[in-house]
Amino acid sequence: MLIYDLDFPALTELFKSWNEPAYRAKQVWQGLYQHYYDSAEQFTNLPNSLRAKLAEQFTFTPFKVKVFQDSSDGSTRKTLFELPDKNLIEAVLMRYGDPADNPQITPSSTGRGAKNRRTLCISTQAGCAMGCVFCATGQMGFKRNLSSGEIVAQVMYYARLLHKEDLTVTNVVLMGMGEPFHNYDHTMAAIDRLNDADGYNFGARRFTISTVGLVPQIRRFADEKRQVNLAISLHAADDEARVEMMPVNKRYKIEEVLEACSYYVMKTSRRVTFEWALINGVNDTPEVAKKLAARLRGLMCHVNAIPLNPTAGYSGKATDRARALIFKETLEQAGIPCTIRMRRGIDIQAGCGQLAGAQSSS
Ligand code: SAH
Ligand code: SF4
Repeated sequence: MLIYDLDFPALTELFKSWNEPAYRAKQVWQGLYQHYYDSAEQFTNLPNSLRAKLAEQFTFTPFKVKVFQDSSDGSTRKTLFELPDKNLIEAVLMRYGDPADNPQITPSSTGRGAKNRRTLCISTQAGCAMGCVFCATGQMGFKRNLSSGEIVAQVMYYARLLHKEDLTVTNVVLMGMGEPFHNYDHTMAAIDRLNDADGYNFGARRFTISTVGLVPQIRRFADEKRQVNLAISLHAADDEARVEMMPVNKRYKIEEVLEACSYYVMKTSRRVTFEWALINGVNDTPEVAKKLAARLRGLMCHVNAIPLNPTAGYSGKATDRARALIFKETLEQAGIPCTIRMRRGIDIQAGCGQLAGAQSSS
């Protein structure tokens, strides 16, 4: 059993069943999440017999590092993990704006307000069932859901790595392989585990979940009133265009998605982010921007636009910077805030939608 699959009450229960005192569970919990231990031997505050039992009963790493790659500017690291059943998943660390972290980045190249962030992008599934045509993960199809522990372990892997440099992960985005709301329970359990104040203590507001727009789950998420940030992958302003790009739109039309977003804003008083992959001539014209602004009017939101990253299975091209800026200005003139995100890690296929989990893609 993977030790990261247990939450604290389950760990406490287990130790009780082993006739161990309750404080042992806490020692293990702190070892895992505050000291980043990843083997039973490291728990030197436990008796030998208990360490041996831990080693026998649990695995501490659910995956092997198949390969890792750093982008040429050194700011982005992509790690390909191999799970015991041979499925591959990826997690990407993006360092923003700290020259001490990375002498190759200058603050001016990282944009305003981007200082000292280390954002980790993690996977929630091996593959994805949603089939968005522009996405490498969608192109490979669905393999399986990750367990909560497999999601947690990706964060702990990078946390351990950064800890060696006296650094920490500052943000976690669930924007790697898979659709988090298609693996809702495991995803939320992973967030709760990482959020635990006596453990890793990673603030809910530092997570961002991105969804293709599964309406019932957006509503459920709203009802749970979580402090986690919500991003919706929209990419088109009308159903005809969206269904061509995102098969999920057959099931949940834009109007329904936006109604669920209004419900979320009403329940949480939190702003929604809409993600928009800018594709040349497809969804980047001022007409589309105006249509989008009209649909979003009155909703507390902002648009995160990013020029499309290339993938093998899709012929669309990225919007260039000049057109992207016109798109942004058109939206903003119509009252919808918009940021153009920088593309990161393109040279190692670590950009959004490029995570195909195949070494050949790297
Ligand atoms: N399944 C979730 C989260 C993972 S995808 C979702 O779809 O929201 C993370 C983000 O990358 C989504 O906004 C997705 O639409 C976007 N994306 C996928 N392929 C892309 C590509 N080729 N270029 C740019 N963004 C892409
Ligand atoms: Fe799945 Fe998101 Fe890719 Fe769509 S964009 S196929 S939902 S990972």
